[in-house]
Amino acid sequence: METRATRIAGSAAAAGPGPGAGTVRAAAVAAARVLDLLLPPRCPGCGREGTVLCTACAAELDARLGLPPGMPVGLPSHVPLPLVAHEWCVSYAGLGRAAIHALKYDGERRLAEPLGAALARRWIACGAGGDVLVPVPVHRDRLRERGFDQARLIASAVGRAGGVPVADALVRRRSTVRQAELDRSGRAGNMSGAFEAGTAGAAAVRGRWAILVDDVMTTGATLREAALALHAAGAVAVSALTVARER
Ligand SMILES: [Zn+2]
Repeated sequence: METRATRIAGSAAAAGPGPGAGTVRAAAVAAARVLDLLLPPRCPGCGREGTVLCTACAAELDARLGLPPGMPVGLPSHVPLPLVAHEWCVSYAGLGRAAIHALKYDGERRLAEPLGAALARRWIACGAGGDVLVPVPVHRDRLRERGFDQARLIASAVGRAGGVPVADALVRRRSTVRQAELDRSGRAGNMSGAFEAGTAGAAAVRGRWAILVDDVMTTGATLREAALALHAAGAVAVSALTVARER
């Protein structure tokens, strides 16, 4: 994935096929991530330089703060079972989409803090419960490629702002096709059995109300599979927090 810095460090990232090419590429990507953090930040909402997220755009993240909890009438899909609740800040368009793309694909990790803090505000305003935050993990191949797990960063920020522990209770079993490349029915099948809780993960959620954290909910297929894995591990309830929700 090309970032602002990989365009600058393009020659380093252009390692051809051959032994060690993956390692060279991973190192180039890691170096580019460092370079990204040295460039002046730019607000993903309005493009203003010098700020990770400007005050005006940050206020957009609180647009739903005063709304009652739960799903407004008129949205096309309800909360996917077995989730007991789903809360989010913004629709996956405009600022919501731009901010998540900047975090995931441009490597602007500093965005995780304001996004997670906004999500914690929404969660607290809803009076929603829960014992432990569980990020929806990316597969280890994706983690290697990207250098970080955006859901983990967001969950950490939610945990700090909301005073709730974070447990990496789930593992993604296999590298699924990117959900964005599939239609709705394909997404559900693609995610079937995608997650499991290891022994340590099960100990972290057994008998507890787990709160899944992810960047965006599209069809809900990913959250549903993650929730099923947490129930199988002994969680008594599972709800979800995502920064954005596709309408
Ligand atoms: Zn802005």
